[in-house]
Amino acid sequence: MMDFSSQISNTANTWEIPLLENFISIQGEGRNQGRISSFLRFKDCNLSCPFCDTKLRMETGVESNFEVSELVDTGFKYANGNFVFTGGEPTLQKYWSYVFVVIKEIYNKWKETKCKFNVEFETNGYKIVDLMRYLYTNIEVYDCTWNWFAECCDINLSPKGKDLNKNFIKHRVSNLIEYIPQNKICIKLLVDNNSVKDIDKLLTELDKEKCIEKDNIYLMPLGASKEELSNTQNIYTLCIHHGVNFSSRIHIMHNMY
Ligand code: SF4
Repeated sequence: MMDFSSQISNTANTWEIPLLENFISIQGEGRNQGRISSFLRFKDCNLSCPFCDTKLRMETGVESNFEVSELVDTGFKYANGNFVFTGGEPTLQKYWSYVFVVIKEIYNKWKETKCKFNVEFETNGYKIVDLMRYLYTNIEVYDCTWNWFAECCDINLSPKGKDLNKNFIKHRVSNLIEYIPQNKICIKLLVDNNSVKDIDKLLTELDKEKCIEKDNIYLMPLGASKEELSNTQNIYTLCIHHGVNFSSRIHIMHNMY
């Protein structure tokens, strides 16, 4: 039996976890773009990307404790049971047990109602394999089954900086498919005018080694403002050339969160 007591506040048998914010909004990018979702934002990240659109919030924001059953109830009531773990970087090891209790609570809720749910991870890939292994190893502690979870879990892997290369993506995908189906993995690559050539080369390498099916790859414009995101002609061309998908970033276009 796992002991969360040192990591998670448990007042009167109610789990609480620290988040930078929890809010209902529209998923702005990737395969589930447009879907209403409950976002659980963790504060810290292992990287410090110059273009980070949550940098200011991460630097100046303060974590608050959120009561897990209330948070999950709200997500089912107002976001159709769609939950997005984001950040920051939700795969930092210090967040694993928080992720776990939220999933356990979603499971409890699902058991009562059999209502539909979905759990997404927005990650740069840092420790996503380790997090999946941790969940896989421990999920049966609370009578959840891995198949129940894997079918409703989406991983949005968006490598950045030095990790934006074929070997990193290949390694993560080949390890992740031990746990979840490949169609639950979405590779999201940010592109601007300066990186078109590099992304072109990367897509050629990924295709050559059959690292992941093309339908699981999305190219997205890099930028933190509507103006920066509006220059997408190069990205459309790249998508069409390589047979991969395009995603805009509607949360930035519409200044949603
Ligand atoms: S990995 Fe994502 S959250 Fe972390 S600094 Fe880079 S853009 Fe921001």
